[in-house]
Amino acid sequence: AAPALQVEGLTKTFRVGRSGRSITAVNDVSLSIARGEVLALVGESGSGKSTIARLIAHLYEPDRGTVRMNAAVIPNRLRGSGLKRFRKDVQMIFQDPYGSLNGLNSIGYILSRPVINQGLARGAAVQERVNALLERVGLAPGAEWAAKRPHQLSGGQRQRVVIARALATEPQLILADEPTSALDVSIRLDIMNLLLDLKDQEGLSMLFITHDLSGARYMADRVAVMYTGHIVEIGPADAVIGAPQMPYTQLLRSAAPKPEESLRAERVEARGEVPDLTNLPPGCPFEPRCAHARAACRQSLPRLYEVAPGHLARCILHDPVLAAQPPLRPDPS
Ligand code: ATP
Ligand code: MG
Repeated sequence: AAPALQVEGLTKTFRVGRSGRSITAVNDVSLSIARGEVLALVGESGSGKSTIARLIAHLYEPDRGTVRMNAAVIPNRLRGSGLKRFRKDVQMIFQDPYGSLNGLNSIGYILSRPVINQGLARGAAVQERVNALLERVGLAPGAEWAAKRPHQLSGGQRQRVVIARALATEPQLILADEPTSALDVSIRLDIMNLLLDLKDQEGLSMLFITHDLSGARYMADRVAVMYTGHIVEIGPADAVIGAPQMPYTQLLRSAAPKPEESLRAERVEARGEVPDLTNLPPGCPFEPRCAHARAACRQSLPRLYEVAPGHLARCILHDPVLAAQPPLRPDPS
């Protein structure tokens, strides 16, 4: 079967300030998500994760690239009924459940809007549908929760409402951008389990963006690692996180908290310089921080090498010829 989502060559450049300089926040990104699959997107702050989600969601227009859903090309410029149809199929969940719900409206009203807009129910059936949505995300009885306003809810309850709103249109794909990072650590696992249950029940596909490697491993079938707008490693979650094949992923993993603290982790950032996106080196963007760098790493961006079936790493250490070059820096270990 065709993947639920297939992205090829997605690229987005932003101009920064009045300097005339620009940054390529997303650089030639290709990925796919099968039906019922979760792909996690991990990487440090500024690596381009949210921009990818916003491009797929048509909140930004890409400079170039192709997005397909179930093999059909989605035009990069969508308007009117095409956009409305797309919004039914693809829903986003953002990090901040405080900012994303209008405090003036009741929960019932907030959830009724997508149901009515997409023509999924009319009249009394709208309220029934809203109540059922609330119960599906663990807020029962639905009628009681529908009468409340956002300020009466905890952060975790609000995020359940945000998830219910995303489900209201019966989407095929959910783009979840750090859906648990703004929440108290004690309820993150509850929200992750809710998302996994809903995915299984509805056969949803999901892009799950996170800073937390153990969260990615818990949620995802496959993981893609971003660095300076590039995918630098992608493959099965256990392989990418358990046995990373790209030095940047290895650095991220060594900076991550131990497994016993894992799901309680705050944001992790790897050591070393955060790269200046306006002034990237011509070769591998990670080369200035890499303990294994060779001369070839400074010449051109390495391609993605297939290190195992379905597991790709953007590193010349997997090139039998280039890897034979002597290291530029002494090995620290
Ligand atoms: P974080 O983990 O902090 O959420 P991220 O990986 O989601 O980071 P993005 O938000 O995608 O990163 O940002 C990637 C780069 O693009 C950053 O340098 C950011 O400043 C820049 N950027 C994102 N959106 C815009 C915009 N609308 N205009 C200009 N620059 C932008
Ligand atoms: Mg982000």
